[in-house]
Amino acid sequence: MTDKTREVLDGIKDRLTKATPGPWFLDAGGDSGVYTEARPSNTSSDVASAFRREDEAFIAAAPVDVARLTRAVEAVLGLHTPVVVYELDDKNGTWIYDGDERRVLTTLCGECTPEFVLGEIEDGDYDGSGSDADIHYPCPTVAAIEDALNPKEGQ
Ligand SMILES: [Zn+2]
Repeated sequence: MTDKTREVLDGIKDRLTKATPGPWFLDAGGDSGVYTEARPSNTSSDVASAFRREDEAFIAAAPVDVARLTRAVEAVLGLHTPVVVYELDDKNGTWIYDGDERRVLTTLCGECTPEFVLGEIEDGDYDGSGSDADIHYPCPTVAAIEDALNPKEGQ
């Protein structure tokens, strides 16, 4: 996950945390408005009101819906994590360094890359020459989430 996506998700979670605690609900008696038992002020249990009942239903469900969607996105991103493969010197089997940093050969998705490739990496048999089995990071799943959370101009 990119820093930008982490920032977007943290912003969503921060706004959720700072909102009046839920659950939020519509008045069962049919009065307009969105309410909570948390009493956001000393004089009222009102959270919001809107001109349309459907908008109030949307607002009332927002805290639960946002929490569920955020957890779902984080769960998927938590599965699709990068596997960084460092370059080895074939002559002596040691890491190749650029300054103080090991040279990165490639970065693959740990979830999408087949087990046999991950096994080759773990055994030091992966040559990095590239094959159709290599699923680079960010994989299509992560890229789709990143694109949705960080839309380009005009999207
Ligand atoms: Zn993946």
